Amino acid sequence: MNTPRLEIDCAKIVANAKRLISILKPHCISIVPVTKVFMGHPTVAASLILSGVRMLADSRIENIERMRHAGITIPMMLIRTPMLSQVERVVLNCEISLNTELIVIRALSKAAKNAGFLHGVIVMVELGDLREGIMPDKLFDIIRQTLRLSNITLKGIGANLTCRYGVAPQQDNMDFLAKLAKEAETLFGIRFEIISGGNSANLLWALDLDPHVHNAVNQLRLGEAIYFGVEALYKHPIAGAHTDIVTLVAEVIESNIKPSIPKGQRSINAFGEMPQVIDRGQVKQGLLALGRQDVNPLGIIPPRGITIVASCSDHLVVESAGVALQVGQEIRFKLDYSGLLSAMTSPYVSKYFYH
Ligand SMILES: *Cc1c(COP(=O)(O)O)cnc(C)c1O
Repeated sequence: MNTPRLEIDCAKIVANAKRLISILKPHCISIVPVTKVFMGHPTVAASLILSGVRMLADSRIENIERMRHAGITIPMMLIRTPMLSQVERVVLNCEISLNTELIVIRALSKAAKNAGFLHGVIVMVELGDLREGIMPDKLFDIIRQTLRLSNITLKGIGANLTCRYGVAPQQDNMDFLAKLAKEAETLFGIRFEIISGGNSANLLWALDLDPHVHNAVNQLRLGEAIYFGVEALYKHPIAGAHTDIVTLVAEVIESNIKPSIPKGQRSINAFGEMPQVIDRGQVKQGLLALGRQDVNPLGIIPPRGITIVASCSDHLVVESAGVALQVGQEIRFKLDYSGLLSAMTSPYVSKYFYH
């Protein structure tokens, strides 16, 4: 098998998606798996569909088109507000998109009309994390305008927290979203099919809900929770979920005993950094064929006994506490979200999906 490579256990993806479906069901929340971290890989999409979900989501039209070309016909939701330059591709390939700009919704309407399609719109509301979303006092206005557009169905409203500032989804901001939805429904005499409350950072809030009390938020868009088995705020494991779905395997290409202190006059390194060094005497240093062009080194976790000490474009420098590494030896790393995102996106990393 090639190295470096990502090994991805699809049976566990199915199991985690099923687990999340079942633990959120008592709260009347359905999940829409987000495929962006796997670049819309059709094998992952097929696994998610096996788990019983009714819709998939991605932030990039390229990924959605990739799944369509692979023959995946399940409804798709674009979760980044569409580029004006891509509205034709969006109405052609997505049933629903998340939106924050009237000018884009108008363009979607025109494109949908030309193509003879209906396109569903969810209007995103700014709840305080200050990434995407219309300011709450502008919401009713955009809804009024959207309802007038042909070939557009207003599916509901939504929100996204935590991605920019780490603002936590809690009862107060979720109640506010629900209140806005209710007011809009009353004002316009409509019913929203979807109130899309957020992402994997919403799980602590969601799992703490009292199943006997009505909860208006009925959808979460989940990536990290499915692929890592954790909620995203504190990375607490989700009971009954797998936390070992993805592994990064890299190969040792040099093993030496070297001093821990560099020799000669120092200036900044290849990445403009000048790391502090402490003298630890002679160390067992290994070089792995794994660099910043393969993965974000801050997003990988080495096995016990191995420490990452530096990384360049093509090399990861490690030190081993126990026996020296052997040339040709494979080292297995765990990854976090940023590690997976970067390794999936690198053409140098082979991807092995297995069941
Ligand atoms: C990426 C993304 C998600 C999924 O986030 P996770 O933390 O992986 O669950 C949900 N909604 C939007 C708008 C996103 O961009």
